[in-house]
Amino acid sequence: MQIMADVGGRPGIDCRGFCKYCYFKGVKDFPPLGCKNCPPNRVGCETCTLEVAERKNEFLPPFFVLSNVQTTLMMTQPQDKNLKINISGGGDVSCYPHLQELTEGLKNLGIPIHLGYTSGKGIDDPKIATRLINNGVDEVTFTVFSCNPKLRREWMRDKKPEASLEALKIFCETIEVHAAAVIIPGINDGNELLETCAKLEEWGAKALIMMRFANYGNQGIILGNDPILEGIEPHPIDEFEKLVRKIDKEFNLRVTGTPVCDPKNKTPFALADDKNKKYLEILPKIKAEATILTGKVAAPYIEKIIKNLGAQDLVNVYPTEKDIGCLITRKDLEKVDLSQIKETVIIPGRAFVHEKEAEKILTRDGTDRIIARGPDKLTVDGEMSGTLTKYDVIEREMEGFYELIQAINFFGVRRG
Ligand code: SF4
Ligand code: SF4
Repeated sequence: MQIMADVGGRPGIDCRGFCKYCYFKGVKDFPPLGCKNCPPNRVGCETCTLEVAERKNEFLPPFFVLSNVQTTLMMTQPQDKNLKINISGGGDVSCYPHLQELTEGLKNLGIPIHLGYTSGKGIDDPKIATRLINNGVDEVTFTVFSCNPKLRREWMRDKKPEASLEALKIFCETIEVHAAAVIIPGINDGNELLETCAKLEEWGAKALIMMRFANYGNQGIILGNDPILEGIEPHPIDEFEKLVRKIDKEFNLRVTGTPVCDPKNKTPFALADDKNKKYLEILPKIKAEATILTGKVAAPYIEKIIKNLGAQDLVNVYPTEKDIGCLITRKDLEKVDLSQIKETVIIPGRAFVHEKEAEKILTRDGTDRIIARGPDKLTVDGEMSGTLTKYDVIEREMEGFYELIQAINFFGVRRG
C-alpha cells in the first residue's frame, strides 16, 4: 500500500517550464467536460474542470504535506508490511523546492519513500540523489525520455541534463528505478531508444515504462490544446505494441507500454488471452442485452471476452473514435452511429461526459435508451501492470468484469 504525499504543483509552471511534449501545454479555458462526479443537474465539477487540467494548486508547504501524511496514517492505521509513502504532485516533484526538507521530515516516520513521477529536471547537483536516498527514498519513477543529454535539453527543457542523468545513474545503482519515456517517433525512438535502454540496463534500472505519445483529440488530448506537436505523427497502436515487445525481448528490464502492452502479464485485458479462458467460467452469466461503448484500443479485447463468455448475441461492443475509454467526451458520443447501439448503453465509468448529456446525445434518433456507467476500470495500464503479479492482474480484471456483468444484467433489456 502506498500513502500519497501530494506536494501540489501545476504542470509546466512548477516544472521549470513545459517539456515540449507535455499534454498540459497550451491549455486555455475550456467548457466543463462533465463526469461521474458532477451533480445530477449541472455539467461541471472540480474533477472535470480543475483536476483534469491539474490546475488545482501551487506547490504546498512541506509542513502541510507532512501533516496530511500523518493524518492519513492515524486515520487508516495501515498494517501493510509493504507500506510506502509516495511523493507526487501535479508539477514535477524534483522541482519541489522543499523536497529534501520533506523527505527529512518523513524519514522520522520510518516508512520507505517512493518518489512518484519525476523528470529529474529539478536536480542541479547529482549529490541530491544521494541525500534523498539517505532520507529513505528507496524507489523512484523517473521520466528519462532519453539518456542523451542533448535530447533532454531540447525536449524537456532540462537546463542541466548531465546532472539529472548522473542522479538517475545513482538512483539506478542504489535503489529501485522505474524509468519512463514518452516515445516520440523520429525523436527518441529507433537507435536513441536502444541506446537509452542499454544505459538503463547497465546502470541497473528495474523497469521501463514506454508511453505512446498522443498528439490529437482522438488520441486523448481532450482539453482543446491539440496538436501538442505540429507535424508529428504518433505511432499507430499496433506499431507501438511491436516496439514494446521488441524492447522487452532485447533488454533485461521489466518493460511495459501504455496504452499497450505488458508482454509478461498480457495486459491490457489479460482475460482476453485464450490461456486465461478458464477464469471466465467463474463469472456470472450475462442475461440481458446491452451495448458496451468503449475506446478504440479496448474494444477488440472486450469483444473477445464477451465472445468467450458466449454472450455475443446479447452484447455488442461499440468502439468510439477515442483511443482511451476513460477519455471519452461528448464529442465522441456525437459521432456514434445510433443504428448500431441497443436500448441499454454502458459507458466507461470514468468517461468525461455528464449522464444527462450522454442520454440526450444517444437518444437523438427518438429511441429511448438507458445510459449507465460501467466500472471505472476493466484492466490495468502499463504503469500499474509492471508492478503487479499475473494473479493480481487477473483478480483486478475479474472484479471489473463482474461489475460490468452486474450492470448489464441490471440495466439491460431481457427478452423472452
Ligand atoms: S515534467 Fe511532466 S508535467 Fe512537467 S512539463 Fe514536463 S511533461 Fe509536463
Ligand atoms: S481504465 Fe485505465 S487502462 Fe482502462 S482506459 Fe482507463 S486509463 Fe486506460
